[in-house]
Amino acid sequence: MPTFFASLARLLEEIASQQSRLQATTLAADFLKTLEPDEVEPAVSFILGRAFQKYSPKTLEVSWATLSGVLQRVTGADWNVFGEAFSRTGDIGDAAMAVYEKTKRQRQAVLFQTSLTLTELCRSLIAIADAEGSGSREKKERIIIALLSQASPVEAKYLVKILVGEMRTGFSEGLMEQAVAKAFEVPLGTVQRASMALGDIGEVAGIFKVQGKAGLENVSLQVFRPVELMLAQVANNVADALKEHGGETAFEFKYDGARIQIHKLGGEVQIFSRCLTDVTRSLPEIVDTVTSNVKAGEAILEGEVVAVDSGGVPIPFQHLMRRFKRVHRIEDIAKQIPLRLFLFDVLYLDGKSLLELPYVQRRQTLAKNAGKIALTSQIVTSSAEKAEPFLKDALDAGHEGLMAKKLDSPYTPGKRGKRWLKVKPVLEPLDLVITAAEWGYRRRHKWLSDYYLAARDADSGEFLEIGKTFKGLTDAEMANLTQRLQAIAVTQGGHRVVVLPKIVVEVAYNEIQRSPKYKSRMALRFARITRIREDKAAQDADTIQWVRAIYERQFAKKGRYKTAAN
Ligand code: AMP
Repeated sequence: MPTFFASLARLLEEIASQQSRLQATTLAADFLKTLEPDEVEPAVSFILGRAFQKYSPKTLEVSWATLSGVLQRVTGADWNVFGEAFSRTGDIGDAAMAVYEKTKRQRQAVLFQTSLTLTELCRSLIAIADAEGSGSREKKERIIIALLSQASPVEAKYLVKILVGEMRTGFSEGLMEQAVAKAFEVPLGTVQRASMALGDIGEVAGIFKVQGKAGLENVSLQVFRPVELMLAQVANNVADALKEHGGETAFEFKYDGARIQIHKLGGEVQIFSRCLTDVTRSLPEIVDTVTSNVKAGEAILEGEVVAVDSGGVPIPFQHLMRRFKRVHRIEDIAKQIPLRLFLFDVLYLDGKSLLELPYVQRRQTLAKNAGKIALTSQIVTSSAEKAEPFLKDALDAGHEGLMAKKLDSPYTPGKRGKRWLKVKPVLEPLDLVITAAEWGYRRRHKWLSDYYLAARDADSGEFLEIGKTFKGLTDAEMANLTQRLQAIAVTQGGHRVVVLPKIVVEVAYNEIQRSPKYKSRMALRFARITRIREDKAAQDADTIQWVRAIYERQFAKKGRYKTAAN
């Protein structure tokens, strides 16, 4: 029996209103059990707010202008209703639902029509992604009209969330792993291992439904299929890092560059960015370096690329980002902005996953297989007296600080744990999301130049404002940002423009203060934007829990921190 999208929407409403994570997991597990085999994978993606599998090259490419235009057309609503609802909850799905509720009576005529099934939704989403070339906007629009004109308010809410790619029910991938384990009665560890290897819990669930337990046991890393990155937490200083790692640890320079994951099979090399998008074409010299140095037939390696000047000294990050964004005349920019690669990990070599190997052994394997490519500068020590001068060396050479890596730790994809710790000497800048912006005055009157900055609530997925700034960007950056913000604006007219939470900026500040002004009860003092994080998506932004931890640490460790401005 085909499953209706309405059932999935109802499930999501229940999950979103659940306080208990256990209960939410049980609800999702019960739902997964009822699905047909080919519905499992898309249902998991939809529940997590994705139109397609995590690493599918397909993207919807539907602008907010198109989507909001369709919503207005099919509901015939006064658009202020949307703006008001969005300003109240900050949730685009809630706002869409409010509009649908308000106009329900007029639309009753179409509501008795046939209900949308999960399979039909999949087909429509693929058709939206596949629409290309001239007339593609109209084609996409027609499909979205067909989807939204028959939707009930709650279906509209979740269709919009899937189309925008932002679910916000608080149901994370971790909980989904638990739900899959529960639904199919497999040990959680097996599900997690498979999910790490494939990088997509939807696919894991699909394989299980079709092939059973045996299917999951055979799952392994595959070249050209990006692996989620292992991430680091923060340590206050080298002594704390040593304590956390129980004595000896590997300290490495923390380079201020961009992380890349390099996949090699025979003579072919593919490179993925931090967001796991394919950036191979932008980095031809890195492809050459890897091809000529790495002799292994199959490998997945990780490293940091740094932009350098002619003397080999690192130059600011925004220059590096120009390399990543460039798709034309790459040779010219490669000459202007040369790159250096520092490798630091190997995840897979000649048919074998190395994820479970202790870090020291992975590093040794890396050293043997990297040819002449530099590895990250490293010392292994249990002594803070030795680590302190190493930190100073890193900073003197223009790098960010140190990474401390636990010697016996496996590589845990997608996890931000304590096995990797970053040690930086300044108050950590925050990666925040722009949630609204105001038009400037006088010279800046043409630009949205005052930005509201928000951190992500890891529990609810909500973006909570903690500051506002008009400082730090160049005129050209503000002009460009104005265009981008207007394209994702959800309110029209007025001095303050509320936008979809899409753009991430790195923000420096001098202090975090208590403040009644924001719902988060915290505010940044002297906030200034230090760069636009093109490489980060809203879900990679720092969390409100993390901001709170820094806030509390200010009191615990006052005096030990230099602020970035000092
Ligand atoms: P953050 O982005 O602040 O969470 O810091 C972690 C990032 O530091 C990684 O994702 C890498 O891009 C970067 N990094 C620089 N040097 C290293 C290193 N030696 N080992 C691991 N990551 C590094």
